[in-house]
This record gives sequence, structure tokens and C-alpha cells, in this order.
Amino acid sequence: MARTHVRLPGRKNTDVARGLWFKCNGCERLIFSRDLEENARVCPHCDHHLMVGARRRVEMVFDRGSFVPTPTRLLPLDPLSFEDSRGYRERLEESGARSGLDEAVLRGHARLGGIQVMVAVMDFTFMGGSMGSVVGEAISRSALEAAGRGIPLVIFCASGGARMQEGMISLMQMVKTAAAVGELQESGVPFVSVLTHPTTGGVAASFAMLADVILAEKGALVGFAGPRVIEQTVRQRLPEGFQSAEFCLERGMVDAVVQRRDLRGRLIRIVRFLTGLVPRSIDTVKHRERRSAAPARRATETYSCSTSEERNVAGVDAAALECQRIYGAGYLVKAEHRAGRVPVPRPDRQGRGGPEAVGASNTDPWDVVRMARHRARPRFLFYVEEIFDDFLELRGDRLYGDDSAIVGGFARLDGVPLMLIGHNRGGTPGDGRATNSGMPHPEGIRKSLRLMKLAEKFNLPVVTMVDTPGAYPGVGAEERGQALAIAENLREMVSLGTPVLSVVIGEGGSGGALSLAVADTVLMMENSTFSVISPEGCAAILWRDQSKARQAARALKLTAPELLEIGLVDEVVPEPPGGAHQDPAAAAAVLHDHVAAHLGRLLGADIDGLVEARLDKYSRVGVFEEVV
Ligand SMILES: [Zn+2]
Repeated sequence: MARTHVRLPGRKNTDVARGLWFKCNGCERLIFSRDLEENARVCPHCDHHLMVGARRRVEMVFDRGSFVPTPTRLLPLDPLSFEDSRGYRERLEESGARSGLDEAVLRGHARLGGIQVMVAVMDFTFMGGSMGSVVGEAISRSALEAAGRGIPLVIFCASGGARMQEGMISLMQMVKTAAAVGELQESGVPFVSVLTHPTTGGVAASFAMLADVILAEKGALVGFAGPRVIEQTVRQRLPEGFQSAEFCLERGMVDAVVQRRDLRGRLIRIVRFLTGLVPRSIDTVKHRERRSAAPARRATETYSCSTSEERNVAGVDAAALECQRIYGAGYLVKAEHRAGRVPVPRPDRQGRGGPEAVGASNTDPWDVVRMARHRARPRFLFYVEEIFDDFLELRGDRLYGDDSAIVGGFARLDGVPLMLIGHNRGGTPGDGRATNSGMPHPEGIRKSLRLMKLAEKFNLPVVTMVDTPGAYPGVGAEERGQALAIAENLREMVSLGTPVLSVVIGEGGSGGALSLAVADTVLMMENSTFSVISPEGCAAILWRDQSKARQAARALKLTAPELLEIGLVDEVVPEPPGGAHQDPAAAAAVLHDHVAAHLGRLLGADIDGLVEARLDKYSRVGVFEEVV
């Protein structure tokens, strides 16, 4: 607690002006107080983050001079006439004098990057930031006022938990605050919590962990039971870093760990994203102008946009017209490609490509499988960088872990905010960010669902990019309910109350792929596949011979044109001659155009109609004969 500072002989602890030396908890070196304050109470030697009081925190984070404390003061009482070694009232008085606060939370409103937000900042120096009646009431009022006024709530947590001195009344503040946060969430108003050192007990186990976006400050200890209690119970030393912010990130409990100096900037990005600055239509022209310097644009001139499915013709026609309106003659939509015909790449100026190019109808499906798996094929993270802007990754399933085989977060496409989720196989060959070849564990799939629910809350469309050999087959994955995780995604996605657009960009491997591919519109890149099982797996089971994979690939009808023909996908996105890896930038440019066109159409549609059509689409899949 207060072990962070050491008094030198003859110096008064509170008198910073006369020069107080602090001993850093991290490196044990002495720091001159003024240096420490100037460095936002972060040790200049070892980057250890020392605790910050509420008033100082407000100064550090919110726009200068914008904080207005709530005029009403809430003062604590002593409902149980609690006495331990000292009376509760005496402790309250002492805490008040030390912190300069009425209670363990400072409440008001302020601006963050110019945006008005409700603010509640806890102060650990006031009775360990414990939550009694006043903290519970203050947090609840902040949440309800944020909901009522429609402005985001930002809470900085720092607490040991419920306040013993108010007994069961304290414990019940957990329910009270959780209920208020529930109402806030129903209202669709954003709530961001920042977990600072330490956030434990009844505060962690109520409002702190219920936020839409949860940041942990570097160095924060976060958990339910405190480390000493755990050690006494299990009778062993806890491992280094247990309950650290990084531990929580790895265990899927927080979206990000942020350095103190980066907190303000990160919060501004989040709040800006989640508040009113939301264009409702895609301004692709601006995007096009911005990127016009890049050579990628030429790709749109060499390809035609192919579509099928008579029932979709009207919608796709609209998208095609939109393409033409935005891109002019450069964006060709050939009428003959609308009737279920395969896309035929036309030769480019060098004479490459043409009807023989990979992906045309005469390409052997096994070659497409190999193309989808090509080690140089551009992957999700490449497209994130090429096509989208302002990507803000959100991590963790809030339950068990953060699976980097699925990456997701807020992003913008030509200015339109959306939720972007995809399988992570790195961006380009040899990219160290690739995880398990993009094979998700249950926690990855549950993270994707968490993000889709967040998107639904904020009316953000969801864009997914599918590229996985399948869900990860492993002991832990089974133990943690891989099958249920996939099943829940399917059930929730089919009725998700926001537009969903899915693009298969590489391998669409069975359930692991489908858990990101239940959508209003499903696009497939020309050399991608979508299959119930890998051709090798199918050959091993049905032919009892893995080497028959080529035959199996043909039999399974897993290529984009084949799936277009049976109506399970809505459009094939053409690739450069020889495949996307031959010209990744051109592939990205074409993909961008298709995603933008379809997203524009989905955003213009009535959401109830979309959900009904989506349910109907998946309910009607099946081929059979009915005999009475
Ligand atoms: Zn240090």
C-alpha cells in the first residue's frame, strides 16, 4: 500500500515542495520527487508505475481544466457503529485528510479529446479505495447519468474491494453497481474502465470487469482474491507476474495493457470511435483519392465483378451500380457474369492471366486448394493494413484466454466504423504474428462472439475474414468446449442485430471457418476454398488413402465458383493473374472495392429485414426430396 515512499530523516512525508525522495518499488533506487511527478509518477529508471491519486489522475488524463466535479457531495456514515482497533469515523477522517476527498471516488464530468464524458476516478489512499455506500452510490449515479445523458462513462478503478466497516451493506454495493452498469449497457452508451494498481475484490467483481472496453494500466495487479489470501490458501508461493496486467491480458480478461503515458491517447481513440462521429454511408471517393497515388488501383481495370444468385440480383445490381458510380468505367460489371457463371480473368496488358488463369472454371480444384494454402498468399493482417484504417485491437474472451489465432477490433473502412475480425495467419510469409496457422481455440471463437455482441450494441457492422484450416484440434480445446463455442457463434450470428459481411480470403476449413462466416453476404476470393473437411481428411476417410486428395478436392465442390453456383456464396472476388500472392496490393484493392460496395448496400438496408433474410437463408439450406 503506502510502502511506495520512504521518508528521509527530518523530512515531512507530505511536503513535496521541500524535496522528498521516493524509493522505487521496482528497482529500489531513490527518485527525487519532482522528477517523479514530472514523469507522471513513473520511475525514470525502471518504468515502474507508482500509484496516482484521483485528482492527479484527472489532471493527467482529461482535457486541461475541463473536469467539473459533481456539485452534490455524498458523505459516508457509520451504519454499523463499527469498531476495530479504531473507529470507522476516525479512519474516515484520517483518509479524508490524507486524500483531500470526501470518499474513495472523485466524480464529475470532463472532456476527453473534446468529447464530453462522465468520469469516476477511485483513490486508493482513501481507505484502500474500498467500496462502501458512497462509492456504490457514486458509481451507480455516474452510470445512470451517462445512460440518461447519452455520454460515455470512463471509470478509473483502484480498490482493495468491498469496505468491511459497512459489512453486508458494502457487499451489496456490488449488486447495485452491476445493476446500474447493466442499465448503461442496455442504453447503448459506451463504458470504458481502466484498471489501475490494484483492482481486486468487490470492485473487480462488479462494475470494473463489466465495461465494454477494459484497459489495464501497466503494473496493475488485477484479480478477485488478493495474492496473500491465495498464498495462504494454497500454501505455496505464487509465480512471478501472477495477477499482473500482462497476466490478465494473456488470460483474456482485458483488452489491452497500456503505459500511463499512452492512456490519454488510447482513451481518446476509443471514445472518439464509440461516439457520434459516425458516417452512415461509405465515402469511397475520399478513400480512392487518398490512395490514388498507389499503383494498386490498376487492378480494378483488369477484372470484372462476378455475381450470381437470381434472388440476389437486385441487391447486387445496386452494389454494381454503386461500384460504377464510385469508380466510373474502371470498375466493370459484366452482365453475363451475373447468372451463376464463373469469373473469367481477362488477360492483363502483359498478356498474363486470361481464361487459363488459376480460378477459371477449368482449374483443377486441388490446385485451388494449394493456391489457398500458398505460403506467399496475403493473409488477414495484410488486408487489415491495406484496406482498413484506425484498427484498434480488442483482446480476450473475458473467460479464459486471449487466442491470437483470431484477431479483432474496431476499424474503419473509408471512414465507416465497423468491427473487424479474422483468422490470424500473419500478414505475409514468415510473419511472426501468425498463430497456430490461424486455427482458433475456444477462447478465440468466444472472443469473436464477444466482439460481435459489442458491435451489435453500438450498431457497428461486422466484417469477418475467414482463413483457417479449421478449429484447433487439441486436448485443451476440447476440455474448454470447442464444440459449444462454435455452436454458440452460429446461433448468435444468425440473428445478430447488425449487418454481417464475411469474406473467405484463403482456406475456409470446416467449423472453425464457419464460426466467422454466418453472414448476410458471403464473398469468396477467387482462389479460396470453403469445405466441410480438408481434401486429405476426406480422402483418408472415404478412399482410405490420403494421396487421393486431388480426387477428394474435386468431389467436395469447395471452390468459389462451385459454391457460387449452388448459392452458398454471393460473389467471387477476382484475384490478380496467378493468384493474390502475385500482386498482393492489387488483390487488396479489388477486395477493398468489393467489401465497400457490399457493406454500403448492407448499411442502407433495414436491419430487421436483414436479420429475417439471414435467418431465412440459413433455414432453407438443404437438398432433398419429400415423399408423402
Ligand atoms: Zn524504479
